Parts: sequence; structure tokens; C-alpha cells
Amino acid sequence: MTPQRIRVEAAADGQFATNSYLVMDEDTHDAVIIDANMEPRLIVDLARKTGAEVRAVLLTHTDVDHIAGLPVLLEEFGAIPVAVHDAERAGLAEGKPLRTEFAMEAPRVDNLTSLNDHEHYRAGSLDFEVLHTPGHSPGGVTLKIGNLLFTGDALFAGSIGRSDFRNSDGRALIAGIRSRLLSLPDDCAVYSGHGPATTIGRERRSNPFLQE
Ligand SMILES: [Zn+2]
Repeated sequence: MTPQRIRVEAAADGQFATNSYLVMDEDTHDAVIIDANMEPRLIVDLARKTGAEVRAVLLTHTDVDHIAGLPVLLEEFGAIPVAVHDAERAGLAEGKPLRTEFAMEAPRVDNLTSLNDHEHYRAGSLDFEVLHTPGHSPGGVTLKIGNLLFTGDALFAGSIGRSDFRNSDGRALIAGIRSRLLSLPDDCAVYSGHGPATTIGRERRSNPFLQE
């Protein structure tokens, strides 16, 4: 059996440099979008250009810069499922912002489905393993397909997510990164919620927040 050929395209918005990712099976063109940043047209254009059949939107967490683009994505791709961890599902269903610290409106979304820790989320020929990596926010997840990781705002190249919000937990964040992410092989690629891609090996060796 030949390994699945997965194509990853990224588009960052200008306001928060939040990444939205298009993840597509090169052979079937089944695809998902991971996170819905402030400029959703950028990832819509990439989906159109690559001929992606977008099956679902997966959310690493629900900070507004990761969900603001949802209404546009759902308009473009139809009523596809929006998958989110249960700890942040109610807020999204009610349109309640994740943070009390920001005075920003959050979209209200129907058609929600759950990303559960240790379970798999399947979208066409794509199969993501869900790793709960909370701490930046209660329902933060990392999505793993093959040796590709989408870590949201848990792990960045050379940094980790903020944990100074009321519903953050800095110890849980570091504990989760260590136990769920750094336990993976060095060559796992890391696609973060902000900034460039990296690898598990590089972060294990040099991320200043994760040294003993
Ligand atoms: Zn973010």
C-alpha cells in the first residue's frame, strides 16, 4: 500500500497572523479546513485552486481569530460539519466568546460535531486523531494525520500559547505538550495556529519553554 499523499496549504490573516490550513488528500481531493481565521477568502481561494472537496471545518480551539471566518466558509462550502472539542462547543453554539478579556463578537454556529480526545475524526478519506492539548483554552486540541500535527495555540515554533487568560492553565498546557506531543517522533511536522511550521524534534531540542 502506498502511503496517503497529504497536501497542506496555509493562509494567515493580516490582523492576528492566524493560520488557516487546507488539508487535502492528493488522490481523492477530500479536504478539511483547520481553523477559520479573519480572512477566510484566502483559504477559500486555495481550496478552489487545488480542486479540494472541503468536507468539514476542524477547530483547534475557539478564540475569535480562529473562528471569525466560519460564516464565510459555511456559505462557500455549504452546511458542512464544524468539529470542536466539547469543552468549547456550547460557546460556539450560543455565539458566546471564549474570552471575557476581549470585546469581540463571536459567530454562532449550528451543525457542530465533537472532537473527542483519543478518538478519530474522519472526513472522506482523511482520518485525524484527536489529542486534547488544553491550557491555552479548555478545549484546545491537536489534530494528527500521519506524521503531521496541527497544534493550534498549544505549541508554536520556539514558543507556546498564552496562558494568562481566566480560562487558561499554564501547567496543563506544558504537561499536555510534554505528554501528548513531545512523546511523538522527531520527524513529526508541527503546523501551528500562528507562525511557521516546525518539527517535534526541533521543539524538543530548542523550545525555551519546554526545557527541563
Ligand atoms: Zn490564536
